Amino acid sequence: MALERTLSIVKPDGVTRNLIGEVVRRLERAGLKVVGSRMIRLSKGDAEGFYAVHRERPFFNDLVRYMTSGPVVVQVLEGENAVAKNREVMGATDPKKAAPGTIRADLAESIEANTVHGSDSVDNAKVEIDYFFKAADICPRS
Ligand code: ADP
Ligand code: MG
Repeated sequence: MALERTLSIVKPDGVTRNLIGEVVRRLERAGLKVVGSRMIRLSKGDAEGFYAVHRERPFFNDLVRYMTSGPVVVQVLEGENAVAKNREVMGATDPKKAAPGTIRADLAESIEANTVHGSDSVDNAKVEIDYFFKAADICPRS
């Protein structure tokens, strides 16, 4: 077990449907602690940079349009195995394939508007946290 940090985003569909609290409740109940949080409206450049790894995928332009369609909440989560734990609570990318009881199975609208983002590795978590947060805006809690 290792104390880790990961980046979580409540995506525009989650914010629009007033599900910020519901998402955070589920993450906190799983033992994850919020150590950084702010609401932002991503610019086209922000979204393109954040999802650069997907730029050749057919859904890239739609994804960027969707992620810039409304405000998001970017959060840093801290906890034991935070990266995997967050992915577990989120569920699979496609809500139709997500395990029952996960955020995406219960709340997501579609494979695109799937309510939450979570870093997929410890290395990517570091890069993604740095993309949105200055060190001074993160408050360690453990
Ligand atoms: P995850 O968010 O589970 O890590 P990916 O990194 O593969 O998933 O994809 C990033 C995001 O791109 C997804 O969360 C979703 O919003 C969108 N996406 C992924 N696959 C598709 C698809 N086949 N069609 C439309 N949007 C997709
Ligand atoms: Mg991903």
